[in-house]
Amino acid sequence: MNSAEREAVVDLAAIRHNVRRLIKVAEPAKVMAVVKADGYGHGAVPVARAAVEAGAAWLGVAHIPEGIALREAGIEAPILAWLHTPSSDFGAGIEAGLDLGVSGWELELIAAAAEKSARPARVHLKIDTGLGRNGCPPDRWEAFIGQALEYQEEGLLRVVGIFSHLAVADEPQRPETDEQIERFREAVAVATDAGVDVEVRHLANSPGTLSRPDTHFDLVRTGIALYGLSPFEDQTSAELRLRPAMTLRTKIAHCKEMPAEHGVSYGLSYRTPAPTTLALVPVGYGDGIPRIASGGPVTVDGRTYPVVGRIAMDQMVIDLGAAGIAGTEQSVLGHEAVLFGPGDDGEESVDAWAKAAGTINYEIVTRISPRIPRRYVDSDVPDDGNDAVAPAWEIEIETSGAEQTQALAARLGEQLAAGDLLVLTGELGAGKTTFTQGLGAGMGVREGIISPTFVLVRIHPNLRTGPDLVHVDAYRLGSAAEIDDIDLENTMDSTVTVVEWGRDRVEHLAGSRLEISMVRSVGGAGEPEASGRGSILAAAGKGPISDTGDDDAVVLDFDDEDDDERRRIRIAGFGPRWAAEKPALEVD
Ligand SMILES: *Cc1c(COP(=O)(O)O)cnc(C)c1O
Repeated sequence: MNSAEREAVVDLAAIRHNVRRLIKVAEPAKVMAVVKADGYGHGAVPVARAAVEAGAAWLGVAHIPEGIALREAGIEAPILAWLHTPSSDFGAGIEAGLDLGVSGWELELIAAAAEKSARPARVHLKIDTGLGRNGCPPDRWEAFIGQALEYQEEGLLRVVGIFSHLAVADEPQRPETDEQIERFREAVAVATDAGVDVEVRHLANSPGTLSRPDTHFDLVRTGIALYGLSPFEDQTSAELRLRPAMTLRTKIAHCKEMPAEHGVSYGLSYRTPAPTTLALVPVGYGDGIPRIASGGPVTVDGRTYPVVGRIAMDQMVIDLGAAGIAGTEQSVLGHEAVLFGPGDDGEESVDAWAKAAGTINYEIVTRISPRIPRRYVDSDVPDDGNDAVAPAWEIEIETSGAEQTQALAARLGEQLAAGDLLVLTGELGAGKTTFTQGLGAGMGVREGIISPTFVLVRIHPNLRTGPDLVHVDAYRLGSAAEIDDIDLENTMDSTVTVVEWGRDRVEHLAGSRLEISMVRSVGGAGEPEASGRGSILAAAGKGPISDTGDDDAVVLDFDDEDDDERRRIRIAGFGPRWAAEKPALEVD
């Protein structure tokens, strides 16, 4: 039991849970935990520590001083700061070992600061792919890259990343995101052609991370989801399997019976409709609750009451009458009053307050003022199924070109059985369909596997005695509920089911599954990987697979010119089926 009068309780276990969730959603891309604006009001340092503990590879802030504060707290993870003015102290940023986002004019000042510090700056070049805020306009991109490379040759900086920011990812169907992805790809290509050795390409924010796997690239920058809040109007935290981290609670400061027709708070805009009991909640706009949010919910003793009358600087009033304790002479003086929290004890969500204020959940938590003390706890976050399950094994293989990818997949296909579920992840062009073609060949199903887009499900009959192959595109299917509508369960037991874009949508269909994620390796041809993001493991047992040389007349989803482009393919086995068996993937 605690007796704090007013506090924002921040559950670091929830932050860790959300980070693990985001890592899983973004895999194989890495996660940057965005802790700008004092960790969206949750406290940047404790949140950053928890996020790094849970596996976040990067931290993100807007301003250089926000990054320096993390360094001063002893945090050593890579930190990117992306919003500057000509008065920014780039030298201090460089000396603190921050990575700097650059949109144009900053480059010269950063180069000068680097020269002075005798330490090369690490920069991420930002392209404006459509948001219309920061970022280099596409028509100046090539010149910008050229300038950055000149400074790089002089040893003043190193181009580490290329990035951009999404405008409408909270509405996943909007076509502007496709356009942004396309422009981003073009910008990366221009940079690569000019000789930039790009370590990290990053585009996605929380909504992109959660709804558009094709925005993931190498790194996702997640803010709101880290705090357990939904970036979507029509999806709750629970539906996204996120856990809200902040609870705003206080104690009732006064409680009294009132006659009918009594005015309440400044302006007397509320009048008690009948004799009732009013309770005073000692939180107001001076604590960051928007004044406009009259009607917002406060939960006392498991019941929720709307705020009546105007919200003042220090306080607000709830009317206990309608549902409450009027006439019972009971008092709630000193009882706990919760404005929002994760919902375990019937309290409302941040979203309910956002709705009352006509704003978004981001603004509600970010504006909770320092006048409300933060308290950090580590709750027992309830486990939710899949997150807790680690793979029985993982294999990571690099292939060079479509033939090798298909040979690897064919080898796997030979070992599949009816009832097997495979979940394929990877951006467009990563080779998911190519991989499925190989699987089909290994299984002996009829040829003609193509990308299933627009036809959601295709069945390829087995020409031998084995199971048929059911090939599904879950990209246009939003949720697990929509997946259930297509009734895969009917066919699953008797077929091998391969779902593209299936991560987090189909796991509930089977007790075991293989997760296959594919990424195009970036960097120069022949360089296994420029980023140092993890080593390449050899296939189970033997070294890199060899070429079967037999793939005529198949449709490839690799770009033809990039036919020998390298892919990293990670295969992970989950559940009892794969705990008992690890496929042999060497090809001879
Ligand atoms: C704030 C911010 C993010 C995080 O956005 P969320 O929607 O909170 O995930 C990512 N990138 C940039 C550049 C940002 O400014």
